[in-house]
Amino acid sequence: MNQKAAPTVVADDVVVTMAYTLTVNGKVIDTSEESDPLIFLQGYRNIIPGLERELYGLNIGDTKKVIVKPEDGYGDEDPEAFMEVPRNDFPKEIPLEVGTELEIRDEDDETLLATIDRVTKDSVRLNFNHPLAGKTLEFDVKILDLRAATEEELEHGHAHGGEEEDFEEFDFEDEEDN
Ligand code: ZN
Repeated sequence: MNQKAAPTVVADDVVVTMAYTLTVNGKVIDTSEESDPLIFLQGYRNIIPGLERELYGLNIGDTKKVIVKPEDGYGDEDPEAFMEVPRNDFPKEIPLEVGTELEIRDEDDETLLATIDRVTKDSVRLNFNHPLAGKTLEFDVKILDLRAATEEELEHGHAHGGEEEDFEEFDFEDEEDN
């Protein structure tokens, strides 16, 4: 038989199933309890580098708290990535509140994500940085399962989940400032 032995610790080329909670400034931003655990291929930057690095050697059932600095997460905030827009340029139905996320179409017809960052009497400041840029991320993770990656997964550089479709066409984490 040509079967690889099941991996017992997190290592390169291992598909990891992991529960996680992400806290930023004491606020829970995201947790797998409300969706599904994360399934990813270790060693291929499928997850942010500062988190991936801290997972090596963990066993199934292990929990760990990982603090990720901006430079190992979503990068520092780019001070150039802000734009001041007159309030009147916004359609009335858009709630002009700090924290509102907007999709904006630029001249090249590309969709950009922006967050309303500041609102004054006359203008609205948009922040085009990733919402987690400049933030220190606090992850509480638990390793739920480990398995050897298939040849196909290694070739593609990502995990294939059970009934999920292959998503290799979408380079959604591949941002310019990374
Ligand atoms: Zn694939």
